[in-house]
Amino acid sequence: MPDFSLLLITIGFIACARGFRFRLHMKTLPGSPDIVLPKYKAVIFVNGCFWHGHHCHLSTTPKTRTAFWLTKISDNMSRDMLSHNRLLAADWRVAVVWECAMKGRGRQVFDALIDNLVDWIHDPRSLGIELAGDAG
Ligand SMILES: [Zn+2]
Repeated sequence: MPDFSLLLITIGFIACARGFRFRLHMKTLPGSPDIVLPKYKAVIFVNGCFWHGHHCHLSTTPKTRTAFWLTKISDNMSRDMLSHNRLLAADWRVAVVWECAMKGRGRQVFDALIDNLVDWIHDPRSLGIELAGDAG
């Protein structure tokens, strides 16, 4: 599950400031992308670092029920990879915005992050992009 507040910030910013038309949580596409821009054949996933197994400072391994969480997160990662491959195979372009790009000590300047995303949306040759924080 994406962190919904981050998602709303992203969507609100892109939609209002840049005048994009988009759809949310398209369940008919693999992985139900959080944001779909049909005109640009682009989808955007906003991934929580813990849930989607991003190896960064926001995603620490829980000390209780460790095996349960590791299995769950590894399942999520497999599912993500499968969804992305299916989307690419269907000529969609796939962007992933990690939570740590927007939150925590390594977060990017928000306007710069959105600029990167918008540049990517407008570049049909770029099939994928991943935006993350700098803190590793
Ligand atoms: Zn992260």
